[in-house]
Amino acid sequence: MSQSLATVAYLGAAILFILSLGGLSNPETSRRGNLFGIIGMALAVLAAVFGPRVSSGGIAWIVTALVIGGGIGLYAAKVVKMTQMPELVALMHSLVGLAACLVGFASYVDTSVQYQGAEKVIHEVEIYVGILIGAVTFSGSLVAFGKLNGKIGGKPLLLPARHWLNLAALLVVIWLGRAFIHAETVSGGMLPLLVMTVIALLFGVHMVMAIGGADMPVVVSMLNSYSGWAAAATGFMLSNDLLIVTGALVGSSGAILSYIMCQAMNRNFISVIAGGFGSGAPAKKSGDAAAAEPQGEVTPITALDTAELLRDAKNVVIVPGYGMAVAQAQHTVNEITRTLRDKGVNVRFAIHPVAGRMPGHMNVLLAEAKVPYDIVMEMDEINEDFPSTDVAMVIGANDIVNPAAQDDPASPIAGMPVLEVWKAKHSVVMKRSMASGYAGVDNPLFYKENNRMLFGDAKKMLDEVLAALKA
Ligand code: NDP
Repeated sequence: MSQSLATVAYLGAAILFILSLGGLSNPETSRRGNLFGIIGMALAVLAAVFGPRVSSGGIAWIVTALVIGGGIGLYAAKVVKMTQMPELVALMHSLVGLAACLVGFASYVDTSVQYQGAEKVIHEVEIYVGILIGAVTFSGSLVAFGKLNGKIGGKPLLLPARHWLNLAALLVVIWLGRAFIHAETVSGGMLPLLVMTVIALLFGVHMVMAIGGADMPVVVSMLNSYSGWAAAATGFMLSNDLLIVTGALVGSSGAILSYIMCQAMNRNFISVIAGGFGSGAPAKKSGDAAAAEPQGEVTPITALDTAELLRDAKNVVIVPGYGMAVAQAQHTVNEITRTLRDKGVNVRFAIHPVAGRMPGHMNVLLAEAKVPYDIVMEMDEINEDFPSTDVAMVIGANDIVNPAAQDDPASPIAGMPVLEVWKAKHSVVMKRSMASGYAGVDNPLFYKENNRMLFGDAKKMLDEVLAALKA
């Protein structure tokens, strides 16, 4: 493939990626968006593999790597459950970071192209910055992976003088950068490069460890953004325009998403990065036994009585959360919605921006179950309607409906906007036990007079509710 043909293919792929992002911004166009992304990526891979920069001997290597990597990806996509998706995404981000580091070291030791003067400095800055971002993304994403799958606790790790530690690390990294660029030989520059990589890896671990449970959504989207910048840095190192464009698209869209999530959670972006949210007042730390222990009496309800409540209601709002994803109850939820709507009940869904374990988690599940988009409302659109709601049905959600976020300034989640389900005439919370949610705090909603607890696996209980409704 000639250089000009490869450039045209890259341009086409870049346009398809932009169209893909545009399509993904709306559930109704997201399938098309996905398709554009797939075609764009296929075009990009073909243009890269058969482009002028790969010799015919190299193609065999690339195809072997593609088959192995593609096989692992296909297997992972098949075996990973929907609830493990956020962890998988975090792991993927770490791979982008690792790739940026490896490409950086490879470009540095590759002396086949001799750079001189300003060009040499620019090339070395690209390598240094690329490895720096890549290493932070790699280790930060691995810690995020551990936090999301529960192997690492959600409690923020707050080292004494951590901001000074970070500042010292930044100054050392700048000083090492100077030493790296002034090095006369590759072996001379290798030591500062390696030391900087170790510091960046430690910084990535420290940065994510310092972030408390309830701030994890922002961290996930922030690492998504970092992985984009790491890919863009790789593009600069390899002089690959498409990688630069794609990396910049991912980097900037991830940054916008982080900003939107911060706004949705009433948090300041800088303070999220600085870490420590979720620690709360000393006596009520996130994950502390005291904060998570049940603080009152609850009133249980049966599936039969829940069906009765729903049948008698005019307005029902369903609030799905992480538990709905765990139970894979979305199809039964859709059946119940259809049954109630057929009976003339006005059923709508209230989606909290950080419900579940990844941005858009609930929207994906409801779309998969074919719940009509027009009854799926964002938090801001529906929060005011709870006082006129007869039944608010909370399915496996906890933190996102916790009134302590509004009432208790000492709560680890204080200030986070929540869905005000307790303002409905009745609320029914479906969960298996009195266990706390991701942020590890008790939920006063459970003890409210107008609240009932339907204990059990969400799918099982909803099946019973559906059977009772149909009876
Ligand atoms: P929560 O984690 O607060 O609560 C989920 C509840 O579901 C649990 O209390 C659990 O209780 C219940 N549950 C689990 N399995 C089942 C089941 N099979 N059947 C019925 N119930 C079940 O989830 P929310 O969606 O309310 O809130 C999301 C939390 O996750 C927030 O704190 C958010 O900050 C955080 N987060 C969000 C991310 C995002 O991007 N959306 C990313 C990372 C973190 P029990 O065990 O008793 O059944």
